[in-house]
Amino acid sequence: MIPLLPPEEALKRFNEAHIADAVKDPALAKSMSQLNVFRALLNNPAITHAQSGLAGALMGSKTLNPRIRELVILRTGWRTKSEYEFVQHVGVSRRLGMNDEEILGVRNPAQCKAYSDADRAVTRLVEVGNQRLEIRDPDFAAAIDARAEYVDRTGSLERRQRLSVIRWSVGATVSLLVVAWFGVPAIATRVTPLLPTGIELKLGDAVNMQVRAMLDTRKKGAAFDCGTAAPEIPGRAALDKLVRRLEAAAALPLALRTNVVRRTEANALALPGGQLYVFEGLIAKAENADEVAGVIAHEIGHVAHRDGTRAVLEGGGLSFLFGMLLGDFVGGGAVVFAAKTVLQSSYTREAESAADAYATDLLNKTGGDAHSLANILGRIGGATEPGMKILLNHPETKARVAAINNATAINARSPFLDTGEWTALKKICAGP
Ligand SMILES: [Zn+2]
Repeated sequence: MIPLLPPEEALKRFNEAHIADAVKDPALAKSMSQLNVFRALLNNPAITHAQSGLAGALMGSKTLNPRIRELVILRTGWRTKSEYEFVQHVGVSRRLGMNDEEILGVRNPAQCKAYSDADRAVTRLVEVGNQRLEIRDPDFAAAIDARAEYVDRTGSLERRQRLSVIRWSVGATVSLLVVAWFGVPAIATRVTPLLPTGIELKLGDAVNMQVRAMLDTRKKGAAFDCGTAAPEIPGRAALDKLVRRLEAAAALPLALRTNVVRRTEANALALPGGQLYVFEGLIAKAENADEVAGVIAHEIGHVAHRDGTRAVLEGGGLSFLFGMLLGDFVGGGAVVFAAKTVLQSSYTREAESAADAYATDLLNKTGGDAHSLANILGRIGGATEPGMKILLNHPETKARVAAINNATAINARSPFLDTGEWTALKKICAGP
């Protein structure tokens, strides 16, 4: 157990750790320093400093939902049998207006009728996280280790001291858990480039099942895909030819899978792990095969930049990160959130411009005509993906079109498909 410091010593260290500076009010600083949590934490002033900044930001956050925050803390307190933490936050929760059913529901969240799906998902997160990260993929572990500057790898810290840090206040652990959940965008951005392709593929498969189910609103199942009925097969062959040429030039670390699906919007979509969906409506709107190739090249840009992976990690939250490490993605509501993110939100303007630049470069490399991407973007208002706003005649779309046109190489162009193949591709969703 960690000893509680005598009150005077706690106050002295509280001031030395510069926590009092942030509090500003000396009387409040003094009473805070006398709380058990600080009397325990201040055994290590450096950790206290880090923890209190974090906890202050969390408790004072205006974007964090306080009820969700309390659910996570209560559930953690209950699971770790921390009487102090639990009792403390029963008070905080009551002041927020939570009733006893909600507060005591953390003992068994699955059975609590007062909880929404989101409530159950966050309380489950505490279980998934459970304060311990086990990284089974050696490459991923090495990549994280190499970037984790604050992790002591030299062994200069005594093992005992490290253990005492691990056993530190539950409050600190809870803060970390909460920040891990709510600070996910920042974490997702950092973790995304480190993901080994194998993990990205697994993540993509889990999300793909959900995304497919969400896109296939009329429950067509296998018939949701175009290109399988006899009259559609030549169209499928033409599409494969087009994608192969792009893929060969892209040299991605993973294989693309491209499906044309029966959706009327002029959209396409790239999932983590290289699954592409091209909507029937896009092929209908395209005036030639190079325009289809242009949009697919743009989607390949999102795959290469792992934009979908980053979005999924943000949408699925921390439980996805844990799922990733434990090799189980399908657990909980995370995969549903993640799939919704992919379908309903749009990438940033920077990510779109980067995908355009990638596409232009790729089309130049393949000897295709990048102007065709600019042409179709202008015609469909720049909304190449679901969730994007259509910005016809909008300066943003005009700027994208101009940037692509400016970067298009002046070279001999060979069309992606000949007239016969293009006619076939147009009929890829013709049906039996
Ligand atoms: Zn895009």
